[in-house]
Amino acid sequence: MINVFQPSLGQDEIDAVAEVISSNWIGRGPKTKLFEEKLAQRFEVSIKNITTVSCCTNGLFEILRLLDLSSTDEVVLPSISFVGAANAAKATGAKVVFADVDKVSLNITRETLEKVVSLNTKAVILIHYGGVPAEMDEIAKVCSARGITLIEDNACSPFSQYKETNTGTLADFGVWSFDSMKILCCGDGGLIYAKDSNHIEALRASLYLGINSQSGMAEVEGKTRWWEFDVPTLGDRHIMNDISSAIGLVQLAKIDQFLQKRKKIHDEYTLRLKDLPLGLPPQIEQHSKSSYYLYWIFSDQRDELAAWLKEDGIYTTFRYYPLHDISIYGSHTECPITEKISDTCLCLPLHQSITTEEQEHIVSSIERFYNV
Ligand SMILES: *Cc1c(COP(=O)(O)O)cnc(C)c1O
Repeated sequence: MINVFQPSLGQDEIDAVAEVISSNWIGRGPKTKLFEEKLAQRFEVSIKNITTVSCCTNGLFEILRLLDLSSTDEVVLPSISFVGAANAAKATGAKVVFADVDKVSLNITRETLEKVVSLNTKAVILIHYGGVPAEMDEIAKVCSARGITLIEDNACSPFSQYKETNTGTLADFGVWSFDSMKILCCGDGGLIYAKDSNHIEALRASLYLGINSQSGMAEVEGKTRWWEFDVPTLGDRHIMNDISSAIGLVQLAKIDQFLQKRKKIHDEYTLRLKDLPLGLPPQIEQHSKSSYYLYWIFSDQRDELAAWLKEDGIYTTFRYYPLHDISIYGSHTECPITEKISDTCLCLPLHQSITTEEQEHIVSSIERFYNV
């Protein structure tokens, strides 16, 4: 079966993990610190504005907790969004409101956002669907005019750019995922960006038990009892360790190669599928860059096509299953465009390990479905 997603891990990552194990320090330590430094460099931000986190979902939970929302407040998400983001919003006790999305990009727009924001809206958590940046200038205008905190769930756009700035660093907060299905994979892991470095300071404490010392090995200057600590505020425990960070460092060094390969597969799909009776993903704007996380098509015979491809050894899926109809979120927003998308959209296999032969097999199977 050809997978939709697949990590690219091999001997380099195995060697890096072996090195960490041999070092006898597998918890959070030098590798995690170095990983944070390299990520800050790559995203062109200060180390003071980022911290690693155990996963993107935990990052979203932590950020929303900082906002101290009440039951009259509202958090807006795209209807097509990851379940973890909606859970994080719902867990605050605030009302979860879903915004409809653009019919081609599957991103929220100024227009769909303006339809659902109210005086009670305190936060918006958007995604850049499949890696394609949302119209951030327009969306940021809506949010800043109303004092709404804007959060980028950057899990599917980890290396995208909008007007030459890295997505994830465009808003008040950004969160990355390095889980097993993502472009840069550590097993599990993530990154949080905050525009205000005070927020990162607060998060660093709450991500590690609320303790105001760094780790068991950290030097505590001038203390004879170095095991003492204080807990100024309660915290949870959502940190990365040196095993996952060591994998991340190797992956980060290969990331441009990964992105190039993804772009090649993406462009080949567009070239080969453009004359079929299908809808294709949007063109990437001149000033932007995609991470090419997903390749999606729209077909009126979507379910039949998915079954046909599966029969041919090709796994496909639809991300992200719409949330506005899931009862636990208690939302009553109508999202007609999302309804249509969820009946027609299909994500084709896109990962670094797809071979030319495999892509040929996928394309020709689609052609045969349409009798071409
Ligand atoms: C994968 C994903 C997440 C969750 O990431 P984890 O690190 O697994 O918590 C969140 N949002 C989006 C858009 C994702 O694709």
